[in-house]
Amino acid sequence: MGSINPETIKYKPLHDEAEIKKRVQELGAQITEDLKGEGVVVVGVLKGAFMFTADLVRAIKAPVIVDFIGCASYSGTKSTGTVRITHDLSTDIAGKNVLLVEDIVDTGRTLDYLLRILSQRGPKSLRLCALLNKPEAREVPINVDYHGFSISNEFVIGYGLDLDQRYRELPFIAQVQT
Ligand code: 5GP
Repeated sequence: MGSINPETIKYKPLHDEAEIKKRVQELGAQITEDLKGEGVVVVGVLKGAFMFTADLVRAIKAPVIVDFIGCASYSGTKSTGTVRITHDLSTDIAGKNVLLVEDIVDTGRTLDYLLRILSQRGPKSLRLCALLNKPEAREVPINVDYHGFSISNEFVIGYGLDLDQRYRELPFIAQVQT
């Protein structure tokens, strides 16, 4: 996309608030059913999944522990290819059901790394729920157990997703126009 000024971009709404709300309820119902009455540690990936995580936990009808993990992999609109943990969990996930909640699966590199790190900690189960899935951009295969919407290979913002830390507060998901 090249160099863009986050203050002067144009964007086009892709999924509005009502659509997101309906999809989050559907995901919560499916996750609740799959938990079969057991509890779950919901791990939101900072910062992009903070809003999705907050809505999703309210749609899961099971005992929930909420935690967050922070990692960095992007600068502007381009992946740097390297992933590092910037904030670790405060919960011991050994023997527990874990649901990793991510904003978007793009190349898959971030989740490949996070899923490996978390599985090494011995959870009872480890599932992945991503708000958005960009299958065309995948470079590393990832098993996405639940996803909200599939999108094409475009850069999106809003509902937690940023462009250089801006636009996370938008209540809808929008596509950045180049
Ligand atoms: P991956 O490692 O799968 O390439 O990238 C995952 C991370 O890149 C996401 O958690 C998100 O932070 C960022 N990312 C990938 N695609 C987009 C996008 O279209 N918009 C925004 N705002 N972030 C993205």
